[in-house]
This record gives sequence, structure tokens and C-alpha cells, in this order.
Amino acid sequence: AGSQKRTLLGHPIGLGICFLTEMWERFSYYGMRTILVLYLVKYHLYSAGEASMIYGAYAGLVYMMPIIGGYMADRYLGSRKAVTYGAILLVAGHSLMAAHGPAAFMDGDTVVRNDFYISIFFMALALIITGVGFLKANISTIVGALYGEKDPRRDGGFSIFYMGINVGSLLSTALVGYVGETYGWNYGFGIAGIGMLFGLMVFLWGQKYLEGRAEPSNPAILKEKSPIGLNKEHTIYLFGIVLVLVSWLLMQYQSFVGSLLGVSGFVMIAIILVYAFTQCNKVERDRIMVACFLIAIQSVFWALFEQQAASLTLLADQQFDLNVLGMNFLASQVQLLNALFIVLLAPVMAWLWVAMARKSIEPSTPGKFGISMLLIGLGYMVFAWGMGLDDSTNKSFLWLVFIYLSLTVAELCLSPVGLSMVTKLSVTKIVGMMMGTWFLFTALGNYVAGWISSLTGSSGHGADSGQLDIAATISVYNDIGLISVGVGVFILLLTPIMKKGMHGVH
Ligand code: GLN
Repeated sequence: AGSQKRTLLGHPIGLGICFLTEMWERFSYYGMRTILVLYLVKYHLYSAGEASMIYGAYAGLVYMMPIIGGYMADRYLGSRKAVTYGAILLVAGHSLMAAHGPAAFMDGDTVVRNDFYISIFFMALALIITGVGFLKANISTIVGALYGEKDPRRDGGFSIFYMGINVGSLLSTALVGYVGETYGWNYGFGIAGIGMLFGLMVFLWGQKYLEGRAEPSNPAILKEKSPIGLNKEHTIYLFGIVLVLVSWLLMQYQSFVGSLLGVSGFVMIAIILVYAFTQCNKVERDRIMVACFLIAIQSVFWALFEQQAASLTLLADQQFDLNVLGMNFLASQVQLLNALFIVLLAPVMAWLWVAMARKSIEPSTPGKFGISMLLIGLGYMVFAWGMGLDDSTNKSFLWLVFIYLSLTVAELCLSPVGLSMVTKLSVTKIVGMMMGTWFLFTALGNYVAGWISSLTGSSGHGADSGQLDIAATISVYNDIGLISVGVGVFILLLTPIMKKGMHGVH
């Protein structure tokens, strides 16, 4: 009967549904993020430093929340209901971004803020954070569930899915950036919201193609009464609203988010290590220790990588000549280079690893992490040097192409291999916890990215407060580049030991 099933290019039709849902979700996420910092600086009249901190706290919480959303789906809701709920919260959040009124304006030389609209703005961010939390990890879980345990099409399915992410990001960084910067921020946010609405509709329409693989593991539990009188399903939805309120509060105390992420990351590592030392044999323990090291160290990568939507966008806006081949790019649109390079280079890199594997010279996973850190670190050092060569505010666009290319090649060495590394080095009992810890350190890296970006700008108030300090920026980029190269060398030195500790896992 299996061979009778309809397929799409040899893959289950459900993959197409997940592809489109995630494409639209990423369309809305990256679209909104593309103009967020510019919007805060130019319109809300936050300083570059404050805007960077808001961005960091937001991106950090976005990557932390899937741990809770994933747990709720595994334990109770199942992926289908969790994704639907997440998509609804996202549509609400993006709509609020589009609809909220002027949060600040200039009265002569003074900034007049409207605290009510600023609260609404933070509420919109909180809805998006929680929506991503319920959607992001669970849509990937559905992709996994469409294939059997040993189905050879599985990796191919995930590669196609990763393309969907970047196609969504590519379209929206071009479009939302253009509309937002040209016609007004609210219109840009509105387009992101409409994209998410398409995502929700595709997902609801495509339920029948998910073949029942995303249903709750035990539907009877959802009907049971919870201590507050509602049934358990509705209680979880209510809990989602509580998460929105908590995120709303946290967004207004950004430095607390950093401590929260840092402390919880290290507590999780401690719990995993205690488990490894008390419940596992030597081989399992060695593998888990290698995984923990790589999980923690990847936060350094994201701290450099996610300058994209923060300091790199402000720089593109203030310091570079964006007139390329007769077209006038906007600063927010420069971010599309990442998605564009991914779409172009992911197949090349995949081919490269296979070709290297044939000659038995493919780097190991820790080796790829080391290479990734070296590449991104060198990229920033060269970029900083390049910026120092030209003190006009019409620096060559090619430098931006260069840094985005370095970021993307480094990403392809680390991000796609990371999650599969976690599943392979973990023991089944704690694989969910280790995945969650991976996301927690990604979140920490995103937060640190905002903090680093805040060091490149002034923290003063007033009309000029959005300007970056170019000398400070060059020295910050040089420093983070050096640190990253150091971390890369450190990883490469430890690679032989880690390979031994992986006991045959590749
Ligand atoms: N660009 C990918 C996505 O948005 C990966 C991001 C990440 O893991 N931090 O899904």
C-alpha cells in the first residue's frame, strides 16, 4: 500500500505542506527582523545601543521558547495542534506590529514617547516570541515523522525543508525591507503578517497530508480536567498566554534575559553531565561530554553571526554605498545576501563534503566547528581592516558581500551539522533535553550578539543617537574576530581528543 501513496518529487506530500508553512513563518520572522533595528533607531528614537539590546533580548527569547513549545507538543498537544496555535499567536503578533501607532516623535529637539504604544510594541514582540516557541521546533518534528526511522529520503527531505527556510527569508528581506523603508514601517510589518497568515492557511488546508503523524500521543489526556477546571488542552493554551505575558515583561528588562539564558544554559549542562556520570557507560559518557562542549561553544558563533540584523545593518545604512549595478539597495535588503548565498552554496557544500568523504579527507564534526569559527573570525578581522581603509561614508559594497559570504560559509559548516550531531552523540533518554540545551546556547549567542552590537554605538539620546561610532565598531569587530579565531584554533587542537571521545560516530 505504501507505494500507492501520492508523492511530490518522490517525497511525501506532507513535506510540501511543512515546507510552505515554515517558508511563510520564516518569511514573517526574517521580514520583521530585517527592519526591526532600523525602525527602533529611526522611528522609535532609541539609541543604537538600546536598540541592539532590545534586538538581542528578542532574538534570545525567540530561540529559547521552542524548548517549552517542544515539550508541550511531545507531552500533550502533538505537533499539529502546537503548530496551529503558534501560527495563530504569530499572526496576532505581526498584526499588532502593523497596527500599533506612533511610539515616539520629535518635538523640536526633544523626543516625545508614547508609553502606551511602546507597551503595545513589546506585546507584539512577546506574541511573536511565544508563537515561534510553539511552531518552530514542532514543524521540524513533523518533517521527521513523515519518514520512517531508516527511510533513505530523510536527509534529502530535511535539505529541501532548509531551502524553504531560506527562500522565505530571501523573499521577505527583499520585500519587507523595501516596503518598510520606502512606504512606512507599519506597511512592512503588515506584509510580514500577511505572509504568516498564508502560512497558517496552508497548514490548516494541508492537514490531510500529514497522515496523522502529528497527532497528540495520547488524545484522552487532553480531555481530562486540569486543577483549574478547564480541560488540559485549553489549560495549555491559557499557559501560552501566560508565556506571552512573561515574555512581555522580560522584553522590558533586557539585561535580565542575558543572565536568565546564561544561568539556565549552564544549569542544563550540569544536569546532563550529572546524568552522564551516574547513569551512562564510558562510551556514552565520552560522547555526551563532546556534545556538551560543542553545544556550549556554538554560542560564540551566533554572537558573531547575528550582527546581521543589528550592527551590520546600521553600518550598511550609515557607512556604505548601496548603489550596485545601477540599483539602489536599502540597508535592510543587504541582509538578503545570507539567504541568497545559502540557496546557492548549500548544494555546493553538500557536494564538497561528499567529494572529500570519497577521498577520506572530510573533516569531522568538531573539525567543521573549528573551521567555522576560524572563517567567521577571519572574516570580521578582514572586514574591520577594510573599513579602516576608507573613511568616507561611501565604502564599497563589495566589503558587505565579503562579510556575508564569510558568515554564510561558516554557517554551512556549523548549523546543519549541529543538530544531527546532537542526536547522534546523545542517548535516547535525554536527547530532547540535549536538543533544548543546543537551542538555549543558540539563544544565549543571539543575546550576546545584541550586546556586542550595543558596543558599536552611542548610548546617548536625541536625534543622532542612532549613529554608530565607526572607530569603536572597527575595534569591536577586530576583537570579536580575534576571539573567534582563538576559539577556532582551540577547537581544532582539541579535535583529535574529541574524535576519540566520539567512539566511531561521524
Ligand atoms: N536560519 C535558520 C533558521 O532560521 C537557522 C537559525 C538558527 O538555528 N539559529 O531556521
